[in-house]
Amino acid sequence: MSNRFQPRDRFAAGAQYIGGRFRVGTSGRRQSVVDPATGDEVFTYELAGTRDVDEAVAAARAAFPGWAATTPAERSALLQHLSAVLAERAEEFAQAESLQCGKPIKLSREFDVPGTVDNAAFFAGAARHLEGRAAAEYSADHTSYVRREPIGVVGSIAPWNYPLQMAAWKILPAVAAGNTIVLKPAELTPFTSLLLAEAAKEAGFPDGVVNIVNGAGKDAGERLVAHPDVVMTSFTGSTAVGRRVSEIATTTITRLHLELGGKAPFVVFDDADLDAAVHGAVAGSLINTGQDCTAATRAYVQRPLYEAFVREAAALMETVRLGDPFAPATDLGPLVSHAQRDRVSGFVDRARSHATVVTGGTVPGGVLKDGAYYAPTLIADAAQDSEIVQAEIFGPVLVVLPFDTDDEGLRLANDTPYGLAASAWTRDTYRAHRATREIRAGCVWVNDHIPIISEMPHGGYKASGYGKDMSAYSFEEYTQVKHVMFDNTAVARKDWHRTVFGDR
Ligand code: NAD
Repeated sequence: MSNRFQPRDRFAAGAQYIGGRFRVGTSGRRQSVVDPATGDEVFTYELAGTRDVDEAVAAARAAFPGWAATTPAERSALLQHLSAVLAERAEEFAQAESLQCGKPIKLSREFDVPGTVDNAAFFAGAARHLEGRAAAEYSADHTSYVRREPIGVVGSIAPWNYPLQMAAWKILPAVAAGNTIVLKPAELTPFTSLLLAEAAKEAGFPDGVVNIVNGAGKDAGERLVAHPDVVMTSFTGSTAVGRRVSEIATTTITRLHLELGGKAPFVVFDDADLDAAVHGAVAGSLINTGQDCTAATRAYVQRPLYEAFVREAAALMETVRLGDPFAPATDLGPLVSHAQRDRVSGFVDRARSHATVVTGGTVPGGVLKDGAYYAPTLIADAAQDSEIVQAEIFGPVLVVLPFDTDDEGLRLANDTPYGLAASAWTRDTYRAHRATREIRAGCVWVNDHIPIISEMPHGGYKASGYGKDMSAYSFEEYTQVKHVMFDNTAVARKDWHRTVFGDR
């Protein structure tokens, strides 16, 4: 099956979306977008420069007062309409996402796009539940209440692994709360953020509420974070770049929301359903070709199940079908780029001297030879402090390690700088509850790994960042709290004035 999405036609007017129209970037630098399944260039565009960022921020700033003044019901109606537009155009979004990322079309159709349709519907509902917590007389002479207000212009920066969902997770809560936004997607994956902004216009969002600048991290990204009119930066990406973003934000006192890297543990206790755990680990490590910040990356398996787990997980990995992302039967596409493929194979090659590559560890040839493919890879016998266990690989690689006692399994699970997600596999409720309490991560699944849902928060502990995406928690982060206090006495000379005027 071939792809029908034609970026050259769709974005002939340019790959920037500012003030409600597409235009060409002004950095003077071009970026090519390559289909990672074939290595063919499918699109080139002029990257946004600092002038484009400044104009996008100006458009967002101009749109802010009008947008902030809309009622929750008005914003909710537009978000509902956006959800419907996305559902109508689902196939175009799925094709664009699969083309730029190389992800299997069944993943785009069944996960990325419906998830985004549902997110828009969720934030349509959330928009009508923006509440301050209290109105009361906390002092006998005053009535206090709390207003939750939008913040202003939000600058967001997104990665390439789930470009549509990342754009949605940034844009939807921000605009639902009455903010306007400038989003900078990753350079390799500009398409679906542009389509989302265009769909927002089709749904009736005023120009300037949603703006997209497709530019390089170093110039457009840093300018967006440092811009004096951007009051909040919401960043999703690697921990290294997150650190740089937070340095800049510290100097400008910009509110920060950081969704960073992960290295999720997958802890299998000896009473677990082995078949469920094996399928969960293989699916949870290979989804999106392992380019998932919550992917299962470190399976800790209690000694009695360890050997069977390694054997069965390797056998299952070997059944996974790599291929053309547009073929409906393909399970696993290429990595996002040849550079990312080489990075992943570098990690595996460096591990060979001290660990066992049980299956995979190869670059497929034959019809796949021109794509950025990498075979599903299972590694055993690695030391806990080795790079392959500690570093985020972001590819189809699962490392399996044994443990003896429950204490040891949980200690090893917590033993990386990251804390985004984790799972525990057991039929014993006491073990399960203990694991969910003791694992330091923003999400702990029990007997599953990967599912997300619009109502529940997604975000990290430790070096995986802070701030939540999706859910009412995310919505609140895009607001600020104001205390309003009314005098109830109508007395000109208040009692407390004595602290200034003495007995006069
Ligand atoms: P990355 O950090 O290289 O880039 C992310 C974004 O930051 C891109 O848009 C990039 O252009 C921009 N950027 C790069 N340098 C910048 C700078 N100096 N200033 C401002 N912006 C800059 O990450 P990536 O390789 O695109 O994505 C993979 C990473 O994203 C992984 O670490 C993954 O774990 C993480 N991720 C985290 C979550 C989460 O929810 N925690 C979700 C998805 C991906």
